[in-house]
Amino acid sequence: MPPAPRSPTAVYPLRLADLIYPEGHPRYCETGPVFAFLVDHPDGLVLVDTGIGPPHQLIDRLYKPVRYPLDEALAGLGLAPKDVRLIINTHLHFDHCGGNQFFPGRPLLVQRREHEAAGAPGYTLPHWVEFSGANYRLLDGDSELMPGLRVLPTRHTPGHQSVVVDTDNGAVVIAGQVTETAADFEAEQEESSIQKLKSFRPVRVFFSHDHATWPYG
Ligand SMILES: [Zn+2]
Repeated sequence: MPPAPRSPTAVYPLRLADLIYPEGHPRYCETGPVFAFLVDHPDGLVLVDTGIGPPHQLIDRLYKPVRYPLDEALAGLGLAPKDVRLIINTHLHFDHCGGNQFFPGRPLLVQRREHEAAGAPGYTLPHWVEFSGANYRLLDGDSELMPGLRVLPTRHTPGHQSVVVDTDNGAVVIAGQVTETAADFEAEQEESSIQKLKSFRPVRVFFSHDHATWPYG
């Protein structure tokens, strides 16, 4: 029998939380979403970021999060956490790696520079990065992880990375937190890593903390 036809690659945003930005944050008092993304690729399911993690006294006091569990978000697509083949973290701030701990043994793909940065005091919650069974695969710059699925270093933290996914409709970019909003991304005309993302002429760019996508419409 011939092999079953492979499904076309698709990207799904998964809203895992809403936060209220604390004092000192540029978006003080605003409520913002926390998105992870699922890439349904013919070679396996890839999860990009894992949300804000389980209840935590300091985080919950500062950000007053409302959590939407990852397993429920995946169930909405008819999937379960066990179906995820590998995980990409755009970066290791708590709101992007909080659910890594639920994937012991699963490859966690992070830029080496980011993994090093995450060791600094106050950068993130260290026990949400390092846990029993954490299986980091450290990347040095651009990398094609699966056919038509690549990561490239972009601005925000020392080792932030964005994901570019080829689909039948064109390139879809998971920008991560390269900018806070789609409007900021639209407005940025200079910064080289953002210009590089725009150079893919993406049909859709998703952001970690904005419901809006780019280009608009
Ligand atoms: Zn964030």
